[in-house]
Amino acid sequence: MTTAPDQHKPELDVSIVIPVYNEEAVLPQLFERLYPVLDSLERSYEVIFVDDGSRDHSAALLRKQYQARPDVTRVVCLRANAGQHAAILAGFEYTGGKAVITLDADLQNPPEEIVKLLAELDKGYDYVGTIRRKRRDSSWRHLASRAMNKLRERITNIHMTDQGCMLRAYDHDIISAILDSREAQTFIPALAYLYAGNPTEIVVEHEERAAGESKYHLFKLIHLNFDLMTGFSLMPLQVFSLVGIGIAIISFVFVIYLAVRRLIVGPEVEGVFTLFAIVFFLIGILLFGIGLLGEYVGRIYVQARGRPRFLIKAVLDKRTADKPDQPE
Ligand code: UDP
Ligand code: MG
Repeated sequence: MTTAPDQHKPELDVSIVIPVYNEEAVLPQLFERLYPVLDSLERSYEVIFVDDGSRDHSAALLRKQYQARPDVTRVVCLRANAGQHAAILAGFEYTGGKAVITLDADLQNPPEEIVKLLAELDKGYDYVGTIRRKRRDSSWRHLASRAMNKLRERITNIHMTDQGCMLRAYDHDIISAILDSREAQTFIPALAYLYAGNPTEIVVEHEERAAGESKYHLFKLIHLNFDLMTGFSLMPLQVFSLVGIGIAIISFVFVIYLAVRRLIVGPEVEGVFTLFAIVFFLIGILLFGIGLLGEYVGRIYVQARGRPRFLIKAVLDKRTADKPDQPE
């Protein structure tokens, strides 16, 4: 695997990356549970919090935590909300650990499980995926994600039992490769899987959100799944063209039949509604196809613009002497 030359040379054993978006309600509990686990590891570590443009007091809480544990805490503040995966990518830019672990801030991923993930990396795996033993989310989320899991398994080369859990561990090389990929919208566990040479999966616990509420409403979830499906497979486009070809052949035969019928039987008015039905059906499929094309074209557009995926406002990091403006 090619990695950026010395750009992200690991100096520590473990980096923990946690995206934070309006999580003031849960952050104190997170700090309380996370740090004891990491202290007990007897490995050098850092926790990189990425404040994803929170509008509540998350940035202030993170700053306080940085002041409490400056040796092992770093805070990256984004100027505006960039989305969970972009925020994690921003965190990756600052990782200095041989092992990198991602975690949600809401304590749905118990920090105690970090020990298990590291044990797997120690065995020589370079990617440790996770399967939630019992998922604690609303039932519609359960159903939807099970369906998306199945679809992803069919149409992409990414094989994960449970794509939704962000508690995962990666070898440093995989993080370098992810950072080298300049795609604008991505789904990190899937991208990491592409670069993994020796992946494994383990079962982890999953808890209910400790406080606050989910940042994913329906539209954002659909969008995320489009990132996953269209980012890692051309199948939706290909299936559509196959269906399109099939329908084109059938309608061609149908048109010939109607033309011949008209020559033999003469004009018929009764068939008008059937024709309408067929036309509407075709229009429906066409529109769906245009929509799907739009998804791909939209992504090409985003990629072609080459805008930065995130903008950093401030970094709380003891290693860097020059500090730009501090977050409030
Ligand atoms: N998150 C983020 N930016 C966003 C949305 C979410 O950084 O735009 C973070 C959020 O603070 C949390 C994690 O991503 O740490 C997962 O979000 P959430 O718990 O709301 O998702 P769910 O568990 O409902 O899928
Ligand atoms: Mg959550």
